[in-house]
Amino acid sequence: MMAGDFILAGVMGWPIAQSRSPILHNYWIERYKLNGRYVPLAVRPERLSDAIRGLPALGFRGCNLTMPHKQLAITMVDNLPDTAKRIGAVNCIVVGEDSKLSGTNNDGNGYVLSVQEVAPQWQPSDGPIAILGAGGAARAIIVALLERRASEIRLINRTFEKAELLAKEFGSAIKPIAWDRRGNAIADVALLTNATNQGMTGHPPLEISLDKLSIRTLVSDLIYVPPETAFLTTAKARGNVVINGLGMLLHQARPAFEAWFGVMPEITPDLRASVMATFNR
Ligand code: NAP
Repeated sequence: MMAGDFILAGVMGWPIAQSRSPILHNYWIERYKLNGRYVPLAVRPERLSDAIRGLPALGFRGCNLTMPHKQLAITMVDNLPDTAKRIGAVNCIVVGEDSKLSGTNNDGNGYVLSVQEVAPQWQPSDGPIAILGAGGAARAIIVALLERRASEIRLINRTFEKAELLAKEFGSAIKPIAWDRRGNAIADVALLTNATNQGMTGHPPLEISLDKLSIRTLVSDLIYVPPETAFLTTAKARGNVVINGLGMLLHQARPAFEAWFGVMPEITPDLRASVMATFNR
């Protein structure tokens, strides 16, 4: 690619209007005075393959993938690293010099970094971790936590069988736990994570008692709309350190931006404020 070229990247989803990725990548493009644009791409699931295969011809350096494309896209890239393979989903595609498409998944890594940003001393191997939910987001963070030597992940899901399936797939560090036992199962964990959609704007709040939770437990929610769910508000009021899902979004975006635009961007208070300002739109 020639110096001075206009660099294009984007995010494919269906629908796509809710994605905050254009805000943050375009913030960085301006911040680093780069010549390029990051665009929302409304792609129907049945056209995903055509859209992905069209990236090199359109001059895109790559794209992010969001709902509902992340899983489907693993079959549509030329290179798939082990982490993305294990997660079973791709959230980022990079177009190589040879026009080959590499799929990666930065979600789990971004999650771990978002926790360590708030609690720098925390390591996934520090103690038991409890995850509520066993969907796509839970899979991504399970893979990242296991890659960093987490020894016990209590997987608490409304549909118990889904937690059991993940335990079968990922091994004995995953302990499936029935939903109605969640209040007791979280008592002594080092990290508690909500990876369900409960508490997201438009959904009911997460129902869980935090009465038995240790005050030292780090409490995180993958949700960032609203920025503070009732779950986090309750945990914060008890004195627990809390982490919302915005950091995961921002940290997964950094290596993608670097792969496309050649600059490893910084997460600053001003960037956070710019993304947060869109939540009341
Ligand atoms: P998903 O695959 O649809 O999984 C949804 C999970 O929520 C399942 O475990 C489901 O349990 C559970 N659930 C749904 N309704 C429930 C209820 N009434 N009571 C208890 N559990 C319920 O969704 P996902 O893609 O994993 O996303 C999960 C959350 O992570 C969403 O809030 C999403 O916004 C967030 N997320 C954040 C980021 C970020 O960057 N911060 C990235 C990805 C996702 P069943 O198995 O019983 O259905």
